[in-house]
Amino acid sequence: MLAVLDDNADAAAVGAIMRGLGLWTQRYQDSAGATCLAIVPPSQAVDAEVLAAVPGVARVLQAASATPLVDAQFGRSVRVGGVTLGSNCALFAGPCAAESESQVHAAAVMAAMSGAVVLRGGAFKPRTSPYAFSGHGLVALQWLRDAADANGLALVTEVMAVAHLDAVANAAEMLQVGSRNMQNYSLLRAVGEVGKPVLLKRGAAATLDEWLQAGEHLLAAGAGHVVFCERGVRSVGRDTRNMLDLGAVALLKHVRGQTVVVDPSHAAGRRDLVIPLAMAARAVGADAVMVECHPHPSQALSDGAQALDSEEMARLATALNAANVEMTTHRRALDGTGSAYA
Ligand code: PEP
Ligand code: MN
Repeated sequence: MLAVLDDNADAAAVGAIMRGLGLWTQRYQDSAGATCLAIVPPSQAVDAEVLAAVPGVARVLQAASATPLVDAQFGRSVRVGGVTLGSNCALFAGPCAAESESQVHAAAVMAAMSGAVVLRGGAFKPRTSPYAFSGHGLVALQWLRDAADANGLALVTEVMAVAHLDAVANAAEMLQVGSRNMQNYSLLRAVGEVGKPVLLKRGAAATLDEWLQAGEHLLAAGAGHVVFCERGVRSVGRDTRNMLDLGAVALLKHVRGQTVVVDPSHAAGRRDLVIPLAMAARAVGADAVMVECHPHPSQALSDGAQALDSEEMARLATALNAANVEMTTHRRALDGTGSAYA
């Protein structure tokens, strides 16, 4: 958004009023010589009418956007179960697939012990090969729900088909649309109509714009909130499974004001890189990282090579906690509410 100022307005004074409204501005002259203040990150969301009422503002221009509902999420936090995402980097964890009741429970305990707030895991699995294990379906939703409840976790799980939507929506606090379905617009519409928060994974070859517009489809249909999940894109090398696009994460978070989750497991495809990539994701502003874990990774029916075991989950938890504590202390010092740097 852009405020064009009156000819005789004092731009510094107008800018100061806007700061009082939680807005950061950048000043420039337009081609007609008028002084303009562009609203830039990390500004709070503001209505055009509020801006137009600031003394010294002649008119407000809003760039036409292909994603007005995504834009309206700017700076808004989202609640998933009992947890609000946004203040620190949270942890989502769980198995790639729900393989048995005992495996799901063991993985949920691993997740909870590591400080996770959301259990992940698939009952319906999209698989490249038609012969690969594709999930236990409806019964697995119940295992996931029970394991989440037993460990005080919220649940996110993937919905692959409209036929399963009611069952998935009844079981989970957050609905996951997988990478392969990011542009399945009829599925997006149906998922949006449920009204719950949606974890929208990025298509493996999707541009940022396509991803945002997929989010717009969900919101236009009524989704409670769209959380964008970067999980790596196709790239030149095959040394990692995908290339984690941390630039896109930073842009979505800091320029577009969105809630962003990063899945380092599907980006790396190998467990030794999951913790470093998770920490990098946190550093660029991810609101949560979502990792795969398994009580016995070597026996996993899918994605065992990238599943963390208990010891690796503990290491991830220690690293994430330390970084989060450091950030909180630093933030308090900036707010003047903490003592560490006062
Ligand atoms: C998953 O998270 O279970 C999954 C299948 O990931 P993606 O859609 O990113 O491939
Ligand atoms: Mn997986």
